[in-house]
Amino acid sequence: MNFINSYQALGPAFYQRIDPEPVRAPRLFLWNQELAEALGLADELLNDPQRLAQVFSGNRLLPGSEPIALAYAGHQFGHFVPQLGDGRAHLLGDLRDGSGRWLDLQLKGSGRTAFSRNGDGRCALGPALREFIMSQALQALEVPSSQSLAVVQSGETVWREGAEPGALVTRVAASHLRVGSFEFFARRGQFEQVRTLADYAIQRHYPELAEAGPQRFIALLEQVIQRQVELVVDWLRVGFIHGVMNTDNTAISGETIDFGPCAMLGVYDPACVFSSIDRQGRYAFGNQPGIAQWNMARLAECLLPLIDPDPERALAQALPLIEAMAPALDQARQRMMAAKLGLEPSRTEDKDLAEALLQRMQQGRMDYTQTFDRLTCCLEQPERQDLERQLNQELADWYPRWRQRQQQADPGATRRIMRRNNPRVIPRNHHMEAVIQACVEQGDAAPAEAFLQVLRSPYQQLPATAAYQDAPADGDQGYQTFCGT
Ligand code: AMP
Ligand code: MG
Repeated sequence: MNFINSYQALGPAFYQRIDPEPVRAPRLFLWNQELAEALGLADELLNDPQRLAQVFSGNRLLPGSEPIALAYAGHQFGHFVPQLGDGRAHLLGDLRDGSGRWLDLQLKGSGRTAFSRNGDGRCALGPALREFIMSQALQALEVPSSQSLAVVQSGETVWREGAEPGALVTRVAASHLRVGSFEFFARRGQFEQVRTLADYAIQRHYPELAEAGPQRFIALLEQVIQRQVELVVDWLRVGFIHGVMNTDNTAISGETIDFGPCAMLGVYDPACVFSSIDRQGRYAFGNQPGIAQWNMARLAECLLPLIDPDPERALAQALPLIEAMAPALDQARQRMMAAKLGLEPSRTEDKDLAEALLQRMQQGRMDYTQTFDRLTCCLEQPERQDLERQLNQELADWYPRWRQRQQQADPGATRRIMRRNNPRVIPRNHHMEAVIQACVEQGDAAPAEAFLQVLRSPYQQLPATAAYQDAPADGDQGYQTFCGT
């Protein structure tokens, strides 16, 4: 494994060069063997849990690693904050994995940096576990996401609501460039730095655009928008609520990053929000497409002077891309909903069919994942007449309408499309909480390992799957998630 340390070439304005703060007694808690192998970690390291704990706690650096904390700004809940940055994270370096993918390796919870403000630079075990589990679940659901390589307990106490065991999570991502990375420089009028960052983003994520000369910046915006559209529609497909879609948590790569207050939708409700600090519901489930567009408008503002030195001509190029994002999101969402109903290729009238179902689910307080899973099961197991009867009853005239629409389609293909888009199991909030609590109380990873085993095959019914499919008795009514934990 050879570190490239490519961020360093951007110049010192982009980061602080700083080593992680050592921890007292590191102990490997969770480990992602598949990812470790893809990264090409040396065998002698892989076979030595104690050394792994030393390395992925930041106590020992891998050869060639020159840790840095990245500078970024961001709009938090719509308000601009000129300086955020990695206040408790260290980028150990970037590298190419076995298949040539260019990846960042980052520790989170690794101590204070120039960007820590009043924070302690640390992370509690619970949130580290949430990030590890949720990122793996999203990956298996085929939603673009940063990955987690390890959770290491620090052997230290962190103080949140009360005393909690400390931990670090190792994050692997296509990069850590965010909309907020661009805002950091654009808001200071430092457009040479914005250009440096944009060219770096192109080199890393969209190398084919490098040929486009001065047009490359508008092309970059177009590509980032495209990936945001795909990402958010995938979130809607599986019922993921990011919870804190600030511009500093919006990755240029189009991956899901930052898992603080994230949650899963249970009962279908576009206004669903679980984050304790999101009182206005800005980041509610159904608002996510609109917020993605808002975030892309912030990115566009940063890029304007690069797109064209003449502000009006720049705007004339960028604005249509932002405006086109709303219909693009709509269409992608419609195609996705049609696929969840097994309708491919979809027709315009399928939109009404999908909306009618969602309305019924909302009125009847039906569970999102379970309802689509049961509809899929109806086709997979035609002998389950009890299921068909139930759905017929719950969904009234909608059910025969849907079956009617399918008559012209090939039943095998319909079943496959539905199952590819409708998971059997998701990381439901009440199970996530129970698993995290059990791990923290027992100091043992077994509950997380069992959960992960099921979540790694979300479209299959394994023997252990049934234990995690139930909706919570209270429909998640009292559920709350927290930021910055
Ligand atoms: P987040 O809510 O995780 O996106 O974090 C927002 C900002 O707060 C980022 O700049 C973080 O680095 C910083 N931050 C969050 N928690 C801590 C902490 N415990 N210590 C230092 N900085 C933190
Ligand atoms: Mg963040």
